[in-house]
Amino acid sequence: MSKRRDVLLHVAGDEIRSSTRLKIKIASLYDQFFKATNKKEIIAHEFSHLHYEKWNKKDLEEFARLSGWTYKRENEKIVDFPPEKLIQADSDLDKEEDFSNYFGLFMTTPEVVKNHNPKVYEFFNKRFKK
Ligand SMILES: [Zn+2]
Repeated sequence: MSKRRDVLLHVAGDEIRSSTRLKIKIASLYDQFFKATNKKEIIAHEFSHLHYEKWNKKDLEEFARLSGWTYKRENEKIVDFPPEKLIQADSDLDKEEDFSNYFGLFMTTPEVVKNHNPKVYEFFNKRFKK
């Protein structure tokens, strides 16, 4: 589920479970989306949220490490700390938001990702050649 405050295309967190155990996620487009100039980036961003859970866990750990996420143990709990240098302002919400921000940019303006974090660029480039 997207936590962006300025959400243009909202990914509903609701999962509808049918009798065949299919999980369905819903993306709703609002008027603001159609006025946006970066529709491709928004679509790529939101669809990466839809598929985030299906990603290989090791790949997601690698992404988080390359992006600069760190972990600390606090009172028996593992606490995530976001990278100091964020690709977008809301990337510090959580690793999924950070991932989706990078993914949306990689699919539309990969040079932005390459300039910001060449290691994350290579991570995506290995999987989705641009
Ligand atoms: Zn998002």
